[in-house]
Amino acid sequence: MFCPNCGSEIQNDSAVVCVNCGCAVSHRSPTADPAQKKEWETALILCIFLGVFGVHRFYLKDTKLAAVQLALGLLSCFIISSIWATVDFVMLLAGSFKTGDGRLITQN
Ligand SMILES: [Zn+2]
Repeated sequence: MFCPNCGSEIQNDSAVVCVNCGCAVSHRSPTADPAQKKEWETALILCIFLGVFGVHRFYLKDTKLAAVQLALGLLSCFIISSIWATVDFVMLLAGSFKTGDGRLITQN
C-alpha cells in the first residue's frame, strides 16, 4: 500500500505509521473514497479542456509547476504545454500523477 500523505510505498500492510513522513496511515480502502474519485475526475476533465493552461495542476495545488506550464505555454503558442498536458493526461489515466503535496491521484 501507499502512504496517503507522502505517497511513498509502505512494505508492511499492517503498518500504522508511515516511516517516511511519520503520519498515521489509514486502513480505509481508497476505493471507498468518493471524494478522491471526484478529485481524479475533475483533474482529468480540467486536463483535457484547460490542460494547456496548467489548470489541472492549479486544481491539484501544484502551483509552481502549473505556473511553469502556463508560462511555457504562452511562450511557445501552447505547443510545449499541449505536449505536457497530453503527458499529464496519460499519467492521470495511469494513476501515476502526483498532486502538489505529493499525493498520488488515482481513479480509485
Ligand atoms: Zn508518508
